[in-house]
Amino acid sequence: MLRQFVEGTKNLLIGMGVTFRNMLSEPVTFQYPDVKRDMPARYRGRHFLNRDENGLEACVGCSLCSANCPVGCIHVVAAENDPENPVSAGERYAEVYEINLLRCIYCGYCEEACPVDAVVLREHYELADYDRDCYIAEKDDLLVYPEPNRFRHDILGNTIRE
Ligand code: SF4
Ligand code: SF4
Repeated sequence: MLRQFVEGTKNLLIGMGVTFRNMLSEPVTFQYPDVKRDMPARYRGRHFLNRDENGLEACVGCSLCSANCPVGCIHVVAAENDPENPVSAGERYAEVYEINLLRCIYCGYCEEACPVDAVVLREHYELADYDRDCYIAEKDDLLVYPEPNRFRHDILGNTIRE
């Protein structure tokens, strides 16, 4: 009986010690959406399409990203570049480039497959919206970095895009 009492008191004090220690430590929670977390550099959020140092589209329309996408959510239609007015530095460019962000599983295979580092997954994670049509990211959306421009609704007070 006495032994059980001592054991119980000891465990109680250990538990209270943990409680008091955490009461005095810095909180680890973020007051989202007022405070937004800096995502790790390797976080795979929303896609973007890069431009090269001359401002041309980096994508050369090779469709390797599409071929390597496990869920088939990238649609690329390539076209020949006009040498007088090229869109990209390659022979071809992506006339159509679309990603279905609802079907995407954010695996990053498209980024890994791209030979010219054109398509990248960045830190954006605030992708909530009411309108399913907003989740077909087209080239105009993907070429805009840092902010996407198709998420129109302010669901959590955090999705307004300029
Ligand atoms: S992240 Fe994965 S699922 Fe999403 S588009 Fe790229 S390859 Fe497809
Ligand atoms: S994003 Fe990269 S892999 Fe995809 S079509 Fe363009 S160049 Fe090819």
